[in-house]
Amino acid sequence: MKRIGLIAHDERKEDLLLWVGKNLDALRGEDLFATGTTGGLLLERYPGLKVTRFLSGPLGGDQQMGSHIAGGEIDLLIFFIDPLGTHPHDVDIKALLRLAVLYNVPSAFNQATADFLVTSPHFRGEYRPLKKSYDAYLKRLS
Ligand code: PGA
Repeated sequence: MKRIGLIAHDERKEDLLLWVGKNLDALRGEDLFATGTTGGLLLERYPGLKVTRFLSGPLGGDQQMGSHIAGGEIDLLIFFIDPLGTHPHDVDIKALLRLAVLYNVPSAFNQATADFLVTSPHFRGEYRPLKKSYDAYLKRLS
């Protein structure tokens, strides 16, 4: 079972809902985690999904997602970003993206990449991304 983070900015929420609808067979039965509003809309449209909802993104939900990534509890991140809007929680978004990169979490920030991820043979099978060791960093002052 994959643990999948789902987030969409307001202007991209309908796109994410449609994408999830198109991939329901693949996503049903997976462990989904979403920021508050995105998760609420997903449950409203697709009541059978298993979605754990965090706070709304701008109210701390992006940071909760980041915390789950740091804790090794997210296998895949699908985040439909609005590239034309300004966002009050821009720093939270940046922090989340940084953690996704740091922990080598397969991430999609647009629909085309999300399509590639969900159709990858790794999506169905066992896949363990390379985990870089940060031991040297942790010992830098000793
Ligand atoms: P939301 O958060 O799902 O609560 O709207 C999304 C975001 O981070 O902008």
